[in-house]
Amino acid sequence: NQGIGSWPARRARRTPHRIALVHEGRQTTYRELHERVLRLAHALRALGVRRGDRVAYLGPNHPSFVETLFAAGTLGAVFVPLNTRLAVPELAFDLSDSGAAVLVHAPSETAAALEVPHRVSLDDYEELIARSGGEPIDEPVSPGDPCMIMYTSGTTGRPKGAVLSHANITWNSVNVLIDTDLTAGEVTLVVAPLFHTAGLNMTCLPTLLKGGQVVLLGAFDPGRVLELIETGRITQMFGVPTMFDAMAAHPRWAGTDLSSLRTLNCGGAPVPMRTIETYLERGLAFSQGYGMTEASPGVLYLPAEQAVAKAGSAGVPHFFTDVRVVRSDGRDAAPGENGEIIVQGPNVMTGYWGAQPLARGEWLRTGDVGRTDEDGYAYIVDRVKDMFVSGGENVYPAEVESAILLHPEVADCAVIGVPDAVWGEVGRAVVVLRPGSTASAGDILGFLHGQLAKYKIPKSVVWAETIPRTPSGKILKPALRVSYAAPAA
Ligand code: ATP
Ligand code: MG
Repeated sequence: NQGIGSWPARRARRTPHRIALVHEGRQTTYRELHERVLRLAHALRALGVRRGDRVAYLGPNHPSFVETLFAAGTLGAVFVPLNTRLAVPELAFDLSDSGAAVLVHAPSETAAALEVPHRVSLDDYEELIARSGGEPIDEPVSPGDPCMIMYTSGTTGRPKGAVLSHANITWNSVNVLIDTDLTAGEVTLVVAPLFHTAGLNMTCLPTLLKGGQVVLLGAFDPGRVLELIETGRITQMFGVPTMFDAMAAHPRWAGTDLSSLRTLNCGGAPVPMRTIETYLERGLAFSQGYGMTEASPGVLYLPAEQAVAKAGSAGVPHFFTDVRVVRSDGRDAAPGENGEIIVQGPNVMTGYWGAQPLARGEWLRTGDVGRTDEDGYAYIVDRVKDMFVSGGENVYPAEVESAILLHPEVADCAVIGVPDAVWGEVGRAVVVLRPGSTASAGDILGFLHGQLAKYKIPKSVVWAETIPRTPSGKILKPALRVSYAAPAA
């Protein structure tokens, strides 16, 4: 077995007594992990799971997530992690779209409402493992075989199932191990959901490949995370900017011993400068990255040492991954010039589930606009889909949103393009004011004069209570357009 299902066996051979997983105080060594994975694989096989079949998982971060992934890999079956925040019909879509034969799940009303041929509830999980055999399983699995179907976040539409091979997942981990200072002594806190690519593929799996320790936390609670960092002597963790802000705002922040932490990893969105500064005051720096589910996910990486010198950049391509920025005529953009980011590498998916696979040599179109500087550092501008054209000029809402957020009375905002008889399209700002603010539309727009070119400045403002976002903090532009794109009253 050349797939990731063999990792626990290989680790058990090398470092049997080291701790692989910690969850709510319970520790699992690599040898135990290997034995449990084998037993679970036998149990899944007894339910009829064969090579190529899909095994879905639904639940918060828990050792059984990791064990199910490796057990599926042991059988050559394909792992399908499901998003616990989805509603029953959305989950039913993922289950039927992927054709899952088995669902392993934490007990919940949602899970109970789903229809699948077979299910394993975590209520019965330990008993199932205890009564299964642990003989070796010798299923031939090649690096190019499918390892998981991971659904994208659904920020721009219905989630798409990215088919990631064992090679994809392995090369992504190799990129992480080459480009970061992750060591075998790592104690990695995984509180970002494992069902999203960052939590699983950027932190959990590279740590396990290297033989480090993964501490799993089922839900994000800033006080609990601070406590765990101190008591668990955590050396690194991954999060999105909002998580790190919540930790710094917690009453425990000042009194917590953070001396075990070496780096914090942040991805999915640029880290605001004030967050970087708050953590620098405690001697902590952020490494940052850019990626997507389809790339397993690492594409660009900015080491912590560069966080200030290259503020706003998402970094340089990972070691084995190639990145180009191309203009709409297909030519490479010059430094400083915007274009679509395209990616090639051993971490790029084989294709979307149910669609034509990517051709040999085909570059993955990311749908993101970016540019590079003279040193080759890349900057993410916005999504191609969110750009609009006003009077012949391209406007990237993300840039306008950043400028509006600098207004002291603005709590949150989003910008969309709306039809306009004169300019084709013009910007409209959807703004959430801080409590008690009486700022007018004129105040907000006036604030942008001198900061942004005139064509980028929105022509209207609408007030909102909240901006619809995904749990990882991304603005749900389709929902916003439905609510706010109608002509101004
Ligand atoms: P969907 O593809 O279903 O619409 P999604 O693109 O949000 O959802 P993910 O694969 O989780 O799903 O996210 C990848 C996207 O996140 C990238 O294409 C990019 O738009 C955004 N992103 C990731 N990292 C960064 C970053 N450092 N800065 C800005 N944007 C980022
Ligand atoms: Mg996407």
